Amino acid sequence: MPELPEVETIRRDLTARIVGRTVAEAWVSPNAPKLVQGEPAAAFCLRLGGRRIEELDRRGKYLLIRLDGGLTWIVHLRMTGGIIHARGGCPEERFLRARFRLDDGSHLCYVDLRKLGTMWLVGEESTVVGKLGPEPLGEAFGPRELHRLLSRRSAPVKAVLLDQEAVAGIGNIYADEALFEAGVRPSKPAKALSRRAAERLHWAVRKVLVEALEDRGSSFRDYVDAEGEQGMHQLRVKVFRRTGEPCYACGTAIRRVRVGGRSTHYCPKCQR
Ligand SMILES: [Zn+2]
Repeated sequence: MPELPEVETIRRDLTARIVGRTVAEAWVSPNAPKLVQGEPAAAFCLRLGGRRIEELDRRGKYLLIRLDGGLTWIVHLRMTGGIIHARGGCPEERFLRARFRLDDGSHLCYVDLRKLGTMWLVGEESTVVGKLGPEPLGEAFGPRELHRLLSRRSAPVKAVLLDQEAVAGIGNIYADEALFEAGVRPSKPAKALSRRAAERLHWAVRKVLVEALEDRGSSFRDYVDAEGEQGMHQLRVKVFRRTGEPCYACGTAIRRVRVGGRSTHYCPKCQR
C-alpha cells in the first residue's frame, strides 16, 4: 500500500539518518525467498556488505539507495513492506524479513507481513525502473502531458492513473482521492476527458500528493515511516474507504465499485 507520499516520507527520513553510513552486515531471512531479485540472497548480502550509502532517491514507489562503487540498492515495499531505522538492534518481530547493520551500530529493519516486497542490487538502475512513467510532482509532467496520455487510452481513467508506465507512484488511495477532487468519475474512459477535465485532474493529483506528503503519508493498515510512526493522511481522505458515508461536498453516500479490478470509491453526484 505505500504509494509515492509514503515512500518519499521514508526516503526523507532515512536520508537524514543513514547517508554516509556503511553497511557492516546484511541478513535476509530464509523465510523470504522472493525478497531478493536477480541473485541468491547470500550473494546479495555479500555484495552489499562494506558499501557506503551516498544518497537516497525515489522513482515512483521505488526507493533507490545509491552506494559507492556505482551500485544502487533498490527497494519496492509492495503491499505491506516497511523499512524502520533502529538506533539499536531490530525489534524481535515475526515479520522481520531482513536486517542490515550499519557501521554506527544502528540497523535498517525490513518488515513485511505478506512478503510481496522486493529488493535488487544493480549497477544499472534502468533495468528495474527504466519503464516507469513521469513523476507526477516533476516538472516534466504538466497538464498537457496528462491530457495527451489520457487521450491515447480507452481504459478507465483510474486504470491509467494506476498504470506505473503511464505515470509513476500513484496507487489506489491517491487515484480515488484525485478523481474526487477533480470531479471525474473513475470508470470514465480516459480518452473521453476534455482538456479542461485533464487540467483539473492534473491539479488534483498534485494537490492530494502534496497534502499526503505534508501528513507523512496514510496509514490505513500497515504503513509506518522510517521511525515506526503512522502517517496522518487517512484522517483527511474524502472518498477512500468511506463507502456509504456522506460526501463532504454534497451529502450523497459514497459508492464503492470495481474499476480495472480495483476497489474504487467515488461520489455519484460530484463525479461525472
Ligand atoms: Zn458529492
